[in-house]
Order: sequence, then C-alpha cells, then structure tokens
Amino acid sequence: MRYFIGNWKMFGVPKSVNILNKINSYYSRDKNRNKYRVVITPPYTLIESYSRYFKNKRILIGSQNCYQKEQFSSNTAAISPYMLKSVGAKYTLVGHSDNRGEGDTDLMLKDKVRYALNNNLKVVFCIGENKIEKKNKKTLSVLTRQLTKVLEKKFNRNNIIVAYEPIWSIGTGKIPTAHELKKTTIHIKKVLKRIFKKTSPAVLYGGSVDGSNIEMFKEIKEIDGFLIGGASKTSKKFIDIIKNYYR
Ligand code: PEP
Repeated sequence: MRYFIGNWKMFGVPKSVNILNKINSYYSRDKNRNKYRVVITPPYTLIESYSRYFKNKRILIGSQNCYQKEQFSSNTAAISPYMLKSVGAKYTLVGHSDNRGEGDTDLMLKDKVRYALNNNLKVVFCIGENKIEKKNKKTLSVLTRQLTKVLEKKFNRNNIIVAYEPIWSIGTGKIPTAHELKKTTIHIKKVLKRIFKKTSPAVLYGGSVDGSNIEMFKEIKEIDGFLIGGASKTSKKFIDIIKNYYR
C-alpha cells in the first residue's frame, strides 16, 4: 500500500472542500486506486465537517497534531486524540517539524503517539534533520535518536507510519538526491525493525514533493508514499503527483 498524505497546515475554510471533491473524484475513478490511500489533514476547524462529508467516500481525514493528554484536561485550546476521533479523524500527524520547533519534546511526542494509538488513530510520526545537522553529516544519528526516543516495541506498529521530512526541504523546493534518500530510508527501516522486532512500518518521504520531482522519488522502491504540503492545496497539483507516480 502506498500513501499520499496532504498536510494543509494553516489553510482552508469550509468551501475549500471543493479541492477535496476534485481529488476524491479522480481517486474514485483511478484504475490504480486500490494501490494507495489518500489522507488529507486540514486544520482542526474543518475536521468534523470534512469527515462527515467524506464518510462514505474514499478520502480519509486526519489532523495535523494532537495534545499529549488522552481525553479531557484543563489545557486551554488543547485538542486530544479522543476529541479528534469523536469527530471522525482517522489519522493524526505527530512531531511535524513546525511543532517540534514550537516546543514539542520527545517526551511529549511519546505521549501523543501513545494516546493517539489508544484512541484508534493511525499515527504519522514525522522525523527529520535540519540543515546544520545535514551539513555535519549527522542525519542518520539524528533520525535514529528521534525514532528510538519516542517509539516503543509495545506500540501497535500496524497503526504507525513514519514520515521522513528533512527540515531543509520543507517548503524550499530543495530535495535530497536519490542516492541519499535511498540510503536514509533504508536506515530508517532498519532502526524501525530493531525497535519493533518485526518488519518496519511504512516510511514516507515529505519535503517539496510535486508533480515533476515525483518521477525521481518513484524510483526509490523503499519509499511507501509521500507527505505533501504545498502541493496538496491545489487539486491539480495533488492529482498530478499521483498520476505521474503511476505513469
Ligand atoms: C510539510 O510541511 O509536511 C511538507 C512536506 O511541506 P512541502 O510539501 O510544502 O515541502
């Protein structure tokens, strides 16, 4: 199974559902549709209405984050995995570099993953090195640390997906070379196998993926799908990625 996950970040109002409608109608008719899954993570404000709207359609709705407590608490503006599940979210991102940058620690991320899994959300756990770490050839050790500090053998690996998103690549148009990316993905899968003592969960790539560079990414068979930011906010750009991937 391949994944095309669109992260809308701070984008979207109720009428933006039109974008998803177009993606959904392509997806429902695509002859390759059973080979992949499309998940969109709109902002919190749209999760309930979009989940209801797409309930019996193909697109799945997820959230971009969740709070590190399970159900209800006194934390102002926080939204728990239980609350997300109750309005129809099926997936949640955890550990996006935007949120790590705003203070999410490994300990907080571990609780987010645990509580999201307890509430039957599938977790897309994001990891990635920054520009300086890359320059200092620390990529693999940073990724190993990010994985081992948060993921545990007892977590249900069937509900975990890992998204490798180099921070220097997000929204910049810069992407790793095919050689680098293959090596990094193999490393991530090796670490995941070690943590879970079983086969690795799916590993996605994210960072400036678009309809033209997808040609290069599709050659790397170890990559199980993509986390797509900018190009997920336009139906044509998102559909082009899927079309060109299966061409
Ligand atoms: C992201 O923010 O998760 C992302 C991958 O963004 P972009 O595709 O715009 O680089």
